[in-house]
Amino acid sequence: MRQGSKRIRSNRTITIDFQDEATYFRLLDNGKAFVECVLAFLLSLGFQLTHKAACRGGGCLTRHSHYVRVRLGGLTIWRMQCTTCKAVFTVLPHFVLRYRSMRPEVARDALIATHGGLSLEWYAVICHISPMALYRVICAFGQHSVVTVLTRCGLPLPRYILADEKHSRCLTERVYLPTIVRGRVIWHLGYSASKSAAAFTASYGEFHRVAHQEDPSYQVKGALTDGFDSTVSSMRALFPGVRLGYCLRHALNKFPSKLIGVSAPVRQGLRAKFHALLHRCRQRKSLRVVALGQRLRHFADHIATMVGEAHGERVRHWFQDKKAGWYAVLVDPQMPAMSTVLDQAHNAIERKLFAMKGFHHPGGSQQAFLTGLAHLYNLVPYQRRAQHAGQCGVEVEGGRVPTADWMLNLQILISGGFR
Ligand SMILES: [Zn+2]
Repeated sequence: MRQGSKRIRSNRTITIDFQDEATYFRLLDNGKAFVECVLAFLLSLGFQLTHKAACRGGGCLTRHSHYVRVRLGGLTIWRMQCTTCKAVFTVLPHFVLRYRSMRPEVARDALIATHGGLSLEWYAVICHISPMALYRVICAFGQHSVVTVLTRCGLPLPRYILADEKHSRCLTERVYLPTIVRGRVIWHLGYSASKSAAAFTASYGEFHRVAHQEDPSYQVKGALTDGFDSTVSSMRALFPGVRLGYCLRHALNKFPSKLIGVSAPVRQGLRAKFHALLHRCRQRKSLRVVALGQRLRHFADHIATMVGEAHGERVRHWFQDKKAGWYAVLVDPQMPAMSTVLDQAHNAIERKLFAMKGFHHPGGSQQAFLTGLAHLYNLVPYQRRAQHAGQCGVEVEGGRVPTADWMLNLQILISGGFR
């Protein structure tokens, strides 16, 4: 029977790399060697265990008890207890997934196949694995916050971010995926059935909450968006004083729609001029904002004389509306100017959602599933022909991963027992 006052038990499960299964089974009979092996691995990672609040965790662990896992054909799992605070850590060997009967190498192959674009259904046909089982594995990864995993890899919390929402569908309903990206890693991938400012603030607020747990003094200095109202106002609400920029490439793509009725060649010519204008301002070392203001005014006048006052006026209004966001991009050299890497992340996630479309349903664990996909995006290495071949997004951004095996990294990094 469930009781309201039931204590929340901390998840202190840790995954340890025993190199091969034979080593693990040999060590099971030798308590001292077992504990030493675990401690040596922890030392090599540089990770600390989550002891209870008051404990300084002197590293004194004794083998506490053991139990038999029935689901894995009777595999013995050991638990270790801190002699000071009595916190108990469950030690999972590398060849076991927590609460899953699926072996890591099976999950690894399936995840790589779907990462490369093969649908779950097709993978199920080839490899006799239930698509639902794979979906559940990804959801299980998604129980752990992306922020926690990334900071464990030594990545600093991002001071400058790209924020934008992906429009997607859940059956016939429109849904939104509020996303925060910095370089090649996704820091937040949320899920919202509404595109209201309140809903987006709640989603981005989840990133804000975990980031503040990691570092109470954390502040975002600059955020680049495409100017969508709900995203802009949630950035303002969550990060007071944040510099809010609008993506310059987005501005370029939007520009022709301000010249409806003008012939295509003329429109393209003007777009090229606008492109050159933004490019020259970005190249300037000083007075970039003043230069942009002047050039935008002249350019709007130029449009008015070339294709008519009505067009000139429409473009002038649009500039008026957006220029503060463009100024914000130019005034701070550290501000990202374009959201290209965020679009790439969205395209990658879109392909996964499409490959898994049978599971994108109203009763699914949407948030956990998306967070799981974000972990995979950050930790699966790029293919041989890619620019960063063999490296994962975390490494490209300067982070460290525990081992050379991405699946094992995922198992270790989402462990509940590390600080
Ligand atoms: Zn302790």
